[in-house]
Amino acid sequence: MSNLTLTPLASGSKGNANLLSWGEKQDKHLLLDCGIRIKNIEKILLSLGMEPTQLSAIVVTHAHADHISGVAPLARKYNIPTFMTKGTAKFADLKGVPLNHFNIGTIFNIEGLNLTPFTVPHDARETAAFTFYEDGYEDTKLGYLTDCGHVTPHIESMLTGVKALAVEANHCRDMLMAGPYPYALKQRVIGDLGHLSNEQTAKLLEKLKDGLKKVHLLHLSEENNCPIKARNICFKALSNKEAEMVVAMQNNPAPPLTLKGL
Ligand SMILES: [Zn+2]
Ligand SMILES: [Zn+2]
Repeated sequence: MSNLTLTPLASGSKGNANLLSWGEKQDKHLLLDCGIRIKNIEKILLSLGMEPTQLSAIVVTHAHADHISGVAPLARKYNIPTFMTKGTAKFADLKGVPLNHFNIGTIFNIEGLNLTPFTVPHDARETAAFTFYEDGYEDTKLGYLTDCGHVTPHIESMLTGVKALAVEANHCRDMLMAGPYPYALKQRVIGDLGHLSNEQTAKLLEKLKDGLKKVHLLHLSEENNCPIKARNICFKALSNKEAEMVVAMQNNPAPPLTLKGL
C-alpha cells in the first residue's frame, strides 16, 4: 500500500504550499510550491511536528509569486535542493539556492517518489502539473493540477487512472463576472491561460470519475468563489457518493489527501 499523502498547507491566490510525505514510515517529505512567507511556512510545519530540515526538496510548478515567493528564502536558509523547469528559473531570483532542473514530460525521482511533470496552459513560462507515485506502486497515482486555463486532451490523458487528485476550482464564473475585479483581470482569469472555474473542474472530474476515490479542491478565490458552491458542483460531477472531497483553504492546512487504503 502506498503511503503517499499531499497536505495543502495554504491554498488560494494569496499563496500556495503543499507538503508531500511518503515512504514506509512516511518519513520522507518535500514541499510542492512555497508562495507564503518563510515565517509562516516554518510555523505551519512546526504545527505539524516538522522542521524545514526534514524536507528533501522543494519542487516548484511555476514562477507566479503565489507559488514561488517563499522558495528562495527557505531553500537558502536550510540548503534544500530545489527543482523547477528552466523556464521557471528564468523568472526568479535564485542566488544561493541549490538548484536542479526538471524537464516537462520527463519523469524524475526524489528518494523513491516518482514525479511526472506535464504541461498545462497558463500564463507563466513552462508551467507544470504532476502525477506522483512511490517506487513499486505505479498503479496508485496521485495527481496535482492548479493554475490551468483550460483542460486539454493531454491533461485528461495524464490524469486518467489517478486514484486521488488535488485540483484547482478557482472561481465561480458568475461570481467572477459580477464581482469587483477590473475587466482586464476578469478576462485573464477566465482566459485560456488563466484558471479553472468550478464548472471546468466539474467537467474534468466527470471524465476522470472511474477509479477516482478522493479529491481535494485547491486554489479557490476568496473573492470569486464559495467553497460550498464549488464542492456541490464538483461532488455531483463525480457521481460517487462514497468519494471523499475536501476543500482546501487559504489560512489553514487542510486534512491530507492520502493514497493510504487505496
Ligand atoms: Zn496560483
Ligand atoms: Zn499561476
